[in-house]
Amino acid sequence: MVINKDKQVDQLTGILSVTSFERDVRELIDSHPDKVFAIVELDINRLTMINELYGLSEGDNLLRYMGSTLRDVLRDVEDSSCARIQADLFVFACPYDEKVIENIITLIEHSIRRYSLMLNIDILVSFGIYKCVKPELEVALMRDRAKMALKTVKGNYIKHFAYYDEKMHDKIVREQEITQNMNHALKNREFVVYFQPKHSLDDESIIGAEALVRWNSPQKGMISPGEFVPLFEENGFIMKIDTFVWEESCKFIRKSLDAGLPIKPVSVNVSRINLYNPELCEILNSLVKEYNIPYEMLELEFTESAYTDNPQLMLQTMNTLQQMGFKVEMDDFGSGYSSLNMLKDVPVDVLKIDLRFLDKSEDSEKATAIVSAVVRMAKWLGISSIIEGVETKEQISFLKSIGCTMVQGYYFSKPMPQDDYIEYIKKYSMIEKSGKQPHLDTAYIDISPDAFWKNVEEHENDLTALFSAYALYEMYDGVEETIRTSESYYELFHTNRNEHYENRGSSRLRVYEEDRPLVGAMLEQAGTGKGVGEAVFRRMCHDGSIVWIHAKAKLLGMNGKSKVFFVGLNDVSRYINSIPNM
Ligand code: C2E
Ligand code: MG
Ligand code: MG
Repeated sequence: MVINKDKQVDQLTGILSVTSFERDVRELIDSHPDKVFAIVELDINRLTMINELYGLSEGDNLLRYMGSTLRDVLRDVEDSSCARIQADLFVFACPYDEKVIENIITLIEHSIRRYSLMLNIDILVSFGIYKCVKPELEVALMRDRAKMALKTVKGNYIKHFAYYDEKMHDKIVREQEITQNMNHALKNREFVVYFQPKHSLDDESIIGAEALVRWNSPQKGMISPGEFVPLFEENGFIMKIDTFVWEESCKFIRKSLDAGLPIKPVSVNVSRINLYNPELCEILNSLVKEYNIPYEMLELEFTESAYTDNPQLMLQTMNTLQQMGFKVEMDDFGSGYSSLNMLKDVPVDVLKIDLRFLDKSEDSEKATAIVSAVVRMAKWLGISSIIEGVETKEQISFLKSIGCTMVQGYYFSKPMPQDDYIEYIKKYSMIEKSGKQPHLDTAYIDISPDAFWKNVEEHENDLTALFSAYALYEMYDGVEETIRTSESYYELFHTNRNEHYENRGSSRLRVYEEDRPLVGAMLEQAGTGKGVGEAVFRRMCHDGSIVWIHAKAKLLGMNGKSKVFFVGLNDVSRYINSIPNM
């Protein structure tokens, strides 16, 4: 690859400018009619973040680095050329050979990975490849096609490159139509807000709803947000759509309050793009003021993957909104790539976990273990959790067995127009008054751990007369875990809540090895569901002391492989220690 002196060069990177590149490629194609060429566009995904975190000069360094990487990698590739198009978008051309191209891609990725490690930031490069099957096509149009392919993998952590195909072209045409019509559609009131109810699992009552936008196009019918939201996020129109949905939701809340409906909070989605809107908090604040509704009636859903884009900004925005009085939800938790660890830093009130993300997982046992671990962890952190995408009775039973209390999904209802939601609220409030339960099958598990715990707390006096401490355990795959405990439980084992949960999972191991079969037998007996299991065993406390425990266990409910037990505990050390030779 040779860069000719009289060609226009990109000032920053020293490689060709786009006009010279296009001329270069035209020449290459015309002078080699026997060869098929490829155009590959590539994009660095994290440049904005690098500019913000490390400053523009670091961003420039990265672009220069990419320029020299391309030059180095293509040096020995005959009939190749490369250029910087603009910002973080680059392009190269070479004779079409999938092996060669994919090898070039790997080399570029390796080089960028080295740079990533230096900055300690995950820099992602995406590639779109167009095979120039029509040599007469303008090079600019060939680039467009490579870009279409690029768009399909942009931001994708698993798939880094894609080849152009005709379907992509049709999709782009449809996207262009959407973009052309969006402003008119908003004015024409073609966007409508649907509401999807959220339910309590304890008594099935409505605890709120999520507002979801729909585009009711006179030409194309109902268009789902999956088709236009990503597009509007790209062109910024999502800010207008979001504001529209927020205002419609506020109007709905005001209307329902005025009508004396037993209305519950409505949550609205806040696009990741809105995080960059300096007026975001002010817009939300003034809407709530304008419609004179309590802050807690409008909940805000932020998608978890936005956190990966810009953690600081997300944290700061959520903090401000929370201080104003809004409740903040983390939507699609588990879909992004942030770690569970972030929960201790991010001020969220509610975690929303989508079961459908887990459906994709091949190992469903693992998936259910993940949901229960996240629900429990949220509980310890004092964060509520709601599960969405709940469709079946089996899922409901499973969620009850792990102590989950709030759900949203087709099992109860699909999103519906405002008037239908009003009717839905009325119907449910009548059911609540009459005390009748709708269609939920509660036979699968006797009682949910949460409902049981409420009951336990009501009868605390009776229970403390019987046991010095008590706990709920879940047994899954032969391993038991503590779900809930009375305050006195920690006293019994000379520990405190934090210490106990830090050492979770090791509860059985703290029982004297030779006494462990006794505990096993107790749970096995209780697990049959016939009567109570009982055992006396020695258990080591966190401070190293040993107590003799008399325990009674009763099965509360089961779901597949998981069983939930109530266990009452008494310290009987002083009786046993008074018996000689024990
Ligand atoms: P989301 O915020 O996670 O919303 C939940 C989506 O799951 C909704 O899809 C809902 O209809 C769907 N859903 C709920 N329960 C079930 C179920 O049991 N089974 C199945 N298969 N699906 C269920 P929808 O309405 O198509 O919205 C998709 C996404 O579009 C939303 O995901 C959200 O990210 C975005 N979106 C929707 N409305 C807005 C909006 O007003 N603003 C912004 N920024 N994004 C929106
Ligand atoms: Mg949502
Ligand atoms: Mg969601």
